[in-house]
Amino acid sequence: MPPHIVVLGGGSAGWITACLLHRELAPRGAEVTLVESTDIGIIGVGEGSTPQLKAFFDHLGVAEREWMQACDATYKLGIRFAGWSERPGYESYFHPFPGPVDLHTEPGFIRNCALKRRGFDVPAHPDDWFLAARLAEAKKSPHPSVTFPFPPSYGYHFDAYKLGAFLRNWGKREGIVHRDLRVDEVELGADGDVAALRCESGERLAGDLFVDCSGFVSLIAQQAHGVPFVSYADSLLNDAAVVMPTAHVSPAKPQTDSVAMEAGWRWRIPLTERVGNGYVYSSRFRSSDEAEAELRRSLGSSGDGIDARHLKMKVGRVRETWHGNCLAAGLAQGFIEPLEATALHIAIVTALEFAQAYGSAGFEPTHRETFNTRIARRYDGIRDYITAHYRLNRRTDTAYWREGAANDALSDELKAMMSAWFTHRDIAEAVAEIYGPASPYPAMSWHCLFAGYGTFPSDEKMQPPPPNAGPADAEAAYAMLSACLGNFSEYAIG
Ligand SMILES: Cc1cc2nc3c(=O)[nH]c(=O)nc-3n(C[C@H](O)[C@H](O)[C@H](O)COP(=O)(O)OP(=O)(O)OC[C@H]3O[C@@H](n4cnc5c(N)ncnc54)[C@H](O)[C@@H]3O)c2cc1C
Repeated sequence: MPPHIVVLGGGSAGWITACLLHRELAPRGAEVTLVESTDIGIIGVGEGSTPQLKAFFDHLGVAEREWMQACDATYKLGIRFAGWSERPGYESYFHPFPGPVDLHTEPGFIRNCALKRRGFDVPAHPDDWFLAARLAEAKKSPHPSVTFPFPPSYGYHFDAYKLGAFLRNWGKREGIVHRDLRVDEVELGADGDVAALRCESGERLAGDLFVDCSGFVSLIAQQAHGVPFVSYADSLLNDAAVVMPTAHVSPAKPQTDSVAMEAGWRWRIPLTERVGNGYVYSSRFRSSDEAEAELRRSLGSSGDGIDARHLKMKVGRVRETWHGNCLAAGLAQGFIEPLEATALHIAIVTALEFAQAYGSAGFEPTHRETFNTRIARRYDGIRDYITAHYRLNRRTDTAYWREGAANDALSDELKAMMSAWFTHRDIAEAVAEIYGPASPYPAMSWHCLFAGYGTFPSDEKMQPPPPNAGPADAEAAYAMLSACLGNFSEYAIG
């Protein structure tokens, strides 16, 4: 019998999940109701995406120009990490979203990384090898002219409130039932499954399947069902953020800037109507007042007169994303700090994989365990990649950065990746072996991370490449990428 699905929560995760489940399962008779309390509101941060958001809208059949305009959205060609390394020549690097266009230059980059790992002095800085880095620097659009068939992968920046509102309108138009009610109690049946949500108004919302998108409170999964929380706090130190928008600036580079601070990092995200800024930090190293003062100093006069918003973050994930008849998604499911802007990415993947697992089994929990294992592995893989940023950072100026670089609370998988790099193993092979075919980060991203922080033997130990070593011709790659730029037009944000 087709289920009645009740989604609790109307933040980005709630609407993304409701829209995808509706899209996938309504044709087979499922009904979707979303209940949220507009009095409680949404967290309202989360302004950067991966290319998964493009896949999401493509899946819904919503044109880019339609939603982007409504959400003050801009293109995001990647992330520039600045100030994470003190090694000369590695003060910043750009991490692009891997895509087919990179296949032309990636082999050369990887070959040179392999040589440089062995102490041969060849060009191996990620900025020199990827089209997206060049496009962002030149403030170009990711859409090439029709004669150039190699578009780069890209994500977006957007206003989180407007994204929610856009999806709410779209979902309601498509047939999702929307209720504005405050849920007071989760009613469990004798079998432990959720029977209904009891609301302040006295209403009782019954359903067959419940999706917990209630945010950090995780009303169903963690509170009512008591699903254990697997904390990442030992490997990821950051647990707080202070957020301050500033005025729109044009022209802006279509990239997220991730700038190292004294006890964390700050993002700078250009939208069409404003710039999003936030400092993600560890409360063990900075008080909220100190963090706000540091953020204000770095923003200069652009922050004058603007109120700051302070947030706490709980990093980790639920042990089982799908427990009984409840699926957890978004912050109710877990959160990895936003360095790689992966939260909505995971929410989209969770909804799509769940729809597949649940739908293909005739709305039965047949594939629950496999699904939970896959999602947990994805979470842990992203946790590792983000932990690696802190482990490989090369700053020595504050106790925060020194502690991150000395952190030994690493998963076996991350230890194996680091050992693969330092023992000159083939990284693509190592990624496949350690994280499997569904690895959240491909070899190219791991190379960018290690090489971007200058994780090579010291300059004094470098020697010229042997004549038969065949380093890739970085100048030729750079010239080729420069020539490609002519196929992309200027991109004026706003
Ligand atoms: C500092 C920071 C930066 C971030 N940056 C990024 C980023 O760049 N990219 C990214 O992908 N993600 C980012 N995230 C994560 C992102 O903000 C969230 O994943 C996203 O906003 C989804 O949140 P949510 O929908 O799970 O929760 P929320 O937005 O908190 O929504 C919870 C919903 O549940 C409802 N609710 C709660 N209790 C009740 C109740 N009792 N009755 C009825 N309704 C209830 C609320 O009204 C609300 O609608 C960031 C998070 C933080 C903290």
